[in-house]
Amino acid sequence: MMAPRRAVRDGLGRPVSDLRISVTDRCNFRCTYCMPKEVFGADYPFLPHSALLSFEEIVRLVRLFVQLGVRKVRLTGGEPLLRRDLETLVAMIAEVEGIEDMALTTNGSMLTPERARALKAAGLRRVTISLDAMDDAVFQALNDVRFPVSRVLAAMDAAAAAGLQPVKINAVVKRGVNDQQIVPLAEYFRNTGHVLRFIEYMDVGNTNGWRMEDVVPAEDMLRAIHERWPLEPVPPAHPGEVATRYRYLDGAGEIGVIASVTRPFCGGCTRARLSSDGQLFTCLFGSRGHDVRAWLRQNWSDEALLDALAGVWGRRVDRYSEVRSAHTTHSPRVEMSKIGG
Ligand code: SAM
Ligand code: SF4
Ligand code: SF4
Repeated sequence: MMAPRRAVRDGLGRPVSDLRISVTDRCNFRCTYCMPKEVFGADYPFLPHSALLSFEEIVRLVRLFVQLGVRKVRLTGGEPLLRRDLETLVAMIAEVEGIEDMALTTNGSMLTPERARALKAAGLRRVTISLDAMDDAVFQALNDVRFPVSRVLAAMDAAAAAGLQPVKINAVVKRGVNDQQIVPLAEYFRNTGHVLRFIEYMDVGNTNGWRMEDVVPAEDMLRAIHERWPLEPVPPAHPGEVATRYRYLDGAGEIGVIASVTRPFCGGCTRARLSSDGQLFTCLFGSRGHDVRAWLRQNWSDEALLDALAGVWGRRVDRYSEVRSAHTTHSPRVEMSKIGG
């Protein structure tokens, strides 16, 4: 393993090991908890292409972040597969020495068998595919573009067949909307080798009208599954893992829960996030990013960029989820579709 040339720790002693890159702010879904149609309508001012970081700019930043300690990259969005020639970017990142893992989070709508094979060939290791319900009526009400469950399931098969394994599945649970889908989702993914992870609905951004009452605590989700198919905890695979893992006692596989609201994990948060327009966020709940795109386009040297990035991380003291309160949930925050989760 290559040692970082200039390992940094933030104000709370956390290294930076993970870089999440949003490659577009656009999406072909209008999930009600993420890009509600009333806000993200036909006249929504999405970014023009020139505002997006170019592949070269992204790869330059990946190289610099590796020097600070990053080993893992995740591509996200918006819907990352909407970004033209994403395979080219994947191949460029795969060549960066020091990157040990590269994954993609997608809604699966465009992940055909050909695309999955091309991404794998370019160097992608794994995919996470989002699916919040097994029932078509519930899923279509959530994605709000009438996209059927069967096509997302087909994308999971395509990913697995291409060797993008194990496939992880993200299911966000919102009370009264899809909480009845917890057990059906668990049932479907038992014995498939795919790892289903339930995510507590978070107060990201300011457009989804988040209320604490809408959150189903991870503990309740686990109880519902455990009553049907008993579970036991699995120790974390690596430090800072956000999902708490469980396995079925009957050997049907593993699930995870991401309890960002009820059991925050800021203490182990080693993620930096780059929005599609090149703003660097040190917390998912940040209100303001650091304008790295401006630094790139002002032709800063690698050394100057490295100093600035190390400075941003060194000053980081974010722990929003641990200090979440009535006051903070009303503060302005970056939208999920811009930062990518
Ligand atoms: N479009 C891709 C997708 O849906 O997988 C990638 C971007 S999406 C913003 C990344 C993940 O964030 C998805 O799994 C989505 O369900 C999750 N997400 C979006 N809004 C959320 C919220 N308010 N709380 C919890 N998770 C959320
Ligand atoms: Fe699009 Fe993903 Fe947000 Fe749904 S969660 S609107 S698929 S970016
Ligand atoms: Fe990391 Fe911020 Fe989430 Fe805490 S609230 S885990 S610091 S992104």
